[in-house]
Amino acid sequence: MIIKPVPCLQDNYSYILLDEKSKLAAVVDPVEPSNILIALEEYPDYRLTTVLTTHHHWDHAGGNNELKKQRPGLTVYGGSKEVEGVTSVIDIEQPLELGSLRIQPYLTRGHTMDHVCYYVQQQQQQQDDNQQQQQQQSGAVFTGDCLFSSGCGRFFEGTPTDMDNALTKLKHLPENTDIYFGHEYTAANCKFALTVEPDNTHLQQKLEWARSAGCTTPSTVLNESLTVRAKKK
Ligand SMILES: [Zn+2]
Repeated sequence: MIIKPVPCLQDNYSYILLDEKSKLAAVVDPVEPSNILIALEEYPDYRLTTVLTTHHHWDHAGGNNELKKQRPGLTVYGGSKEVEGVTSVIDIEQPLELGSLRIQPYLTRGHTMDHVCYYVQQQQQQQDDNQQQQQQQSGAVFTGDCLFSSGCGRFFEGTPTDMDNALTKLKHLPENTDIYFGHEYTAANCKFALTVEPDNTHLQQKLEWARSAGCTTPSTVLNESLTVRAKKK
């Protein structure tokens, strides 16, 4: 699996997700379709079939109709009919497929009531001596405006309990899962988090790094567990 961040608007991230086996491509929150189509020119062998929308806000879903116009036949996933251009509403956590990639949607309410995170894993058949076994590689999760790096989204529609339930789902993913979030807020989030946990050395180091790095996506579940204050469950 290949994942490429595509910066959009002021501080948004869209993402390209590629399955190297089937040469199928998906995009996450393609708010500026022209940026996505330019980025896809680097991968002429791939066929774009799928849009994964994290939630209905315009700075995530607002490019869906334009992209559908430019690439007719796209399947557009989202958590409600409020999502622009949606063709398939996710209302249960039923896995999706993109070629050899398994995509597990998680309903993650809080920021909006239709927020969905998408956890992606590649499943490979590997020949090991005479035994064929299925090996699961480490995965990636697209978290939109639910979880950023060292912070979470505002509760526009849901309650703190909704957000707590959502973050708990993400927290239980394997520690080496890469987290691809929807906005570059990392330095500001670390600065705020340090007002709550001034002695957290992981946070201090991350703030320094985030200020110099500019682009901080992806994070990991392990990194977030060290730099986001959360209840143990
Ligand atoms: Zn939002």
